[in-house]
Amino acid sequence: MAALSSVVVSLLVLCVCVKAAAPTSRWIEYIPGNITLILGAPHGGTEQPTSIPVRDAGCYINGKCVYRHDCGTKDFSKCKVTTVQDSYTLETTKAVADAMARKYGVRPHVVLNLLHRNRLDANRGKPDAAFGDTEAEAAWNQWFDYIESSKGDGIALFIDLHGVSSHPEKWVEIGYLIKGAQLDSGDYTYNDSSIRHLASRVGIDFRELLHGRASLGYRFDRLGYNVVPSPTHPGPDGGKYYSGGDNTRAHGSKYGGIVDAIQIEMPKHLRDEAICVTFCPDLADIIYDFWARYYRQR
Ligand SMILES: [Zn+2]
Repeated sequence: MAALSSVVVSLLVLCVCVKAAAPTSRWIEYIPGNITLILGAPHGGTEQPTSIPVRDAGCYINGKCVYRHDCGTKDFSKCKVTTVQDSYTLETTKAVADAMARKYGVRPHVVLNLLHRNRLDANRGKPDAAFGDTEAEAAWNQWFDYIESSKGDGIALFIDLHGVSSHPEKWVEIGYLIKGAQLDSGDYTYNDSSIRHLASRVGIDFRELLHGRASLGYRFDRLGYNVVPSPTHPGPDGGKYYSGGDNTRAHGSKYGGIVDAIQIEMPKHLRDEAICVTFCPDLADIIYDFWARYYRQR
């Protein structure tokens, strides 16, 4: 009887532990890595389960948008959300990680949102991302937790990979949270950037680090890719350019911490499956070279 009681107690303890464990979601794929580099793809998912309602628009209440499925009358002019998928970015991210493993014998952590952006936007704060839906919120938590746990205890680099189709320049856009107009005018300091911690510790002039020969852009530039910011294009010169989103803000060092974040927008003609036979190994070389120079522990 005593033995039976102890089994019951053990089962109860097990149940409590399982219940108390962090929520998990099958909608986020995590491929563990072994270096202080994390690659994320928040907008490449295609899964559209009927159990999660479609994100469409929030309600306009007291002068601002409230993003919940049950907010009332939706306002499609003021509070409509973007649901465009970044095609091929899951495939591209995995191909880059595989190329890095093959060539350099190391593997970055990979975090992929498998849900279509019309179910979860993993590059937004939780309310806008999940609209209050429990299953979508669990996926958002899982996305965030995988990135957090991949960072480790020291310096690290998070790269948020996206696909852009609507910009006529068709260039690679590297986002450090410095707006295009600021890049064009030169009116910024490293404190404005998502690589603030890197800039503060390497003793390199910040413009050199952002668009000179010390930059990530230079590494694209020298392989012949059209890219901004870079030595060829220090700024977008009034052109279309994304400077970074919520992931870059949340996981970079602009607001503190020792982990840096960079957003990379890849134009459609580069991330197509067939083309990526060349571009993905190149992207692996580019990111690895930048990471190895500034983040590898010696
Ligand atoms: Zn995107």
